[in-house]
This record gives sequence, structure tokens and C-alpha cells, in this order.
Amino acid sequence: MTKLRPLHPETLAVRAGTQRSEFGEHSEALFLTSSFTYESAAQAAERFQGREAGWVYSRFTNPTVAMFEARLAAMEGAEAAVATATGMGAILTVCLALLEQGDHIVSSHSLFGSTYQLFGAMMPRFGIKASFVSQNNLEEWEAAITPKTKFLYVETPSNPLVEIADIAALRTIADSVGALLIVDNCLCTSALQRPLELGAHIVVHSATKFLEGQGRVLGGAIVGSRTLVDEKLIPTLRTAGPSLSPFNAWVLLKSLETLSVRMERASKNALYIAKALEAHPKIARVYYPGLASHPHHRLALRQHCASGEAGEEVAGGALMSFEVKGGQAAAWRVIDATEICSITGNLGDARSTITHPATTTHGRLAPEVRAAARISDSLLRLSVGLENKQDILQDLLRGLD
Ligand SMILES: *Cc1c(COP(=O)(O)O)cnc(C)c1O
Repeated sequence: MTKLRPLHPETLAVRAGTQRSEFGEHSEALFLTSSFTYESAAQAAERFQGREAGWVYSRFTNPTVAMFEARLAAMEGAEAAVATATGMGAILTVCLALLEQGDHIVSSHSLFGSTYQLFGAMMPRFGIKASFVSQNNLEEWEAAITPKTKFLYVETPSNPLVEIADIAALRTIADSVGALLIVDNCLCTSALQRPLELGAHIVVHSATKFLEGQGRVLGGAIVGSRTLVDEKLIPTLRTAGPSLSPFNAWVLLKSLETLSVRMERASKNALYIAKALEAHPKIARVYYPGLASHPHHRLALRQHCASGEAGEEVAGGALMSFEVKGGQAAAWRVIDATEICSITGNLGDARSTITHPATTTHGRLAPEVRAAARISDSLLRLSVGLENKQDILQDLLRGLD
């Protein structure tokens, strides 16, 4: 958990993890191969039994995937990382690696929809119980843990209401029963937040979102200690198979190089738009941690360690939600009047995207669960991209004015 690192995150994002082949290529090579060959039968045997280091099969590990893992681990300030096919593949791999029948997990109920289904509907089929608590009510977390609790799970900021959880406080609660604290760092990414330094044991990523940043490929990752990765996660991935394809790893590896520049620009755009929307008479409420009106603004400033000189201007990140006066009809009017923003459930793209969570990303939830998560019919979620900030704002105002 040391903050002392010889190189800054932006440098690591460009330089860390690179392994050059005999050709001395400058940009990282794409090893698009499913398997590897050996000099002899004896060498094959040594490799398969793990007595000789080296490549075997791309479900286990691949040089391009390994470069992505090493780079992301360096950026998160971690010992190791494991890449997975998707973000959900990462979360599933963590569950398979850490849980057994009779175990219990505690999670915030402000969760990505599929994560909620995985914990609340799928895990119970295997004898694992999940308790869901309010993201920011520490007493609820404390009351929910039991001696059987294996991990505490939180997304911070959460999607879509961008609630910030106090990572250090949750770590203390996890420690009281010897549980692990897992943080989904999808929305901030390692460019704005390094949860391991704040107290998390494990970070999971949907690399599909901001890490990738241009909406091209799916991917995921789990970041943590060398022991956890080598003894628990890699054996699980190797057996269960949700491995990242080398092609996707190569796209993601190149994406990491521009991550901090993209996050900085998108977050500055977001702050500008959030301030303008907050002042607009047709907007009931803006949820954005970069605004002083956000209930966890100070916590966001503390946990989101924007690197470089950007500081507070980018601490809010690139995602926000807002409530339009006039319910679902008014919210849909804003969406339908846009000409720039993409109408899509995805987020974390160079293109700004707009979604009506109640009827799309969170539409599968029962109405009372949706109400508990405060996803109202007038709520819109905006993932701010890299377009000009005035153009994005004008695009949103068209449906309001
Ligand atoms: C998208 C998302 C996931 C799942 O990632 P996939 O790559 O789509 O599987 C998990 N957590 C959060 C917060 C997400 O936004």
C-alpha cells in the first residue's frame, strides 16, 4: 500500500509491461496464436507441469495478454493482474476462485445490473448467500457481515448515481471478520483512483468501458497481490476459461497509453456540463461527484487522486446522471432531441452516450428494487466523451428548451 513509486502513472501507462521479441518492434506485438511449440517432448512435459517457465496455451497465458496485465497492474500500484474476457468474466472468476458452498458475501445494492443478478440470483443456486446494503450506510455493512462472509463488494463511484463509498472504512469492516474488500474501479479507472492504496484487497475492471475508451472490444481484469493471482485466480481462469483474447488484449494495451489523457479531457467536459445542467430550470437534480452539491464531494476529492496538474477539475470523472422535470416523457424528449450523443447502454467511450436507465440498463430489476436504488423514471445517465464540451451541452439543451 505504498504511495512511493519511482514512475508516475502516465509513464507507466505508456512504458510498463512491454516485452520485445527478437525483432525489436517498438510498438507491442500481437501474438495471435492459441498455442505454443516446444523444442522436444521433454520440454513440453516440463512446461505443462509448470517446472519450466514459458508459454503453453493462450487460455492460460499469452505474451500480448501478459503485457496488458503487467501494464494495468503497474498503473493500479499492484503486484499482479489477470485479464478476463469481459468485466463480468472478471467478477465471476473472483467468485469461483474465492467462494464455496455455505459462504456469504455482502455487497452494496448500487450495482451494475449483471453483477446484481450474479450475486443475487446465480450464486444462491450454488449455496452462496448475498446480503445487499446501502452504499454509504456503514452500520448496514457492519450489521450484514457474519463469520461466513468471504468478501465485501462495492462499485465506487456507482452506476448510474455516482455514489462514492468510503474504501478505508469498508476495509476496517472487512478486517473485523477476515473478509476481503473488492472494489469495481470501472468508472474512475486507475487514472483517477487506485483502490488498493486506499485499502481494497482486490480491484475488478470492466476493461470494456473507459480502459478501452473507444467502444471496440470487450475485456476485464482482476488486480491484486501476486499470491492471490498465482494461487487462486490463474488456476481458476485456466480451468474455467473466461480468458481474454490476444487481439482484445492488444487493443486494450494500446488504449492504456492514452487513458490518463482521455480521462482528464472527458472529466473536464463533464464538470462543465454538470455545472450548466445544475443551473438549468428544467433540471430537478444533477448527480456528479465533482459538484459541491454532491453528498460525497469531499470523499471523491480525497479518493480520486487525479494525477498530474489536473487535480480537482477532473476528480468527478466522466459519468453523471440527472433528473429532468416532467418524468419519463420529458427525459425521453431530451434523448430523442440529441444529434451528437449516442443513444446506447454503453459508457466510457470517446463518444458521449445517453441512456434512460429505468427502461434499459436497469429495466430487468423489479420496480421496488429500482425504487430502492433511486432509479427514477425521470433519470438520465450521461457518459461524457471527448467531443467539444459546448457541443455536447447544446445537444442536451435542445430537448430541454
Ligand atoms: C459494464 C460493467 C461491468 C461488466 O463489464 P462487461 O465488460 O460488460 O462484462 C461491470 N461493472 C460495471 C460497473 C460496469 O459498468
